[in-house]
Amino acid sequence: MADYRHILLTVDFSDDSDQVIGKALDMARRNGARLSLIHVVEYTSSMYAGDIPLPEDLDLDRRLAEQAVDKLRQLAQDHGISEAKQLVEIGVPKREIVRVAEEIGADLIVIGSHGRHGLQLLLGSTANGVLHQAPCDVLAVRIGRQE
Ligand code: AMP
Repeated sequence: MADYRHILLTVDFSDDSDQVIGKALDMARRNGARLSLIHVVEYTSSMYAGDIPLPEDLDLDRRLAEQAVDKLRQLAQDHGISEAKQLVEIGVPKREIVRVAEEIGADLIVIGSHGRHGLQLLLGSTANGVLHQAPCDVLAVRIGRQE
């Protein structure tokens, strides 16, 4: 197995997060690797009310990012990894995860995957998008019910 030195753990704060976190912590321990955490606040401007795009609300994005900083800090504390670098970005999750992985020189991204296929895969999930663009290895942790 390759020795990983810097692992980027992607966190969406869903109920499934624990499985992804557990796997990343295990990989970090086995490899003696540094760990960084990332959560991406999705642009509110990318949300839609039916066919009508909502106007961009930068203030809302900023407030959501502030909340995410607190949640990420709490999560790191709960898992005994307060020393891990904690990053909150605003944007499209798969793009920001790939950009930050490049920026910090991560050599492994740990991400949850629902194991979607067929049409759902074509439409794209975060894990699928990251897998195709990542500058490094990606560990896709199978979460939820398997089909
Ligand atoms: P999804 O394909 O959106 O269901 O998400 C699958 C996995 O992608 C999650 O388990 C997380 O590891 C990661 N992920 C999804 N959304 C975000 C986000 N906003 N910030 C960071 N990681 C995310």
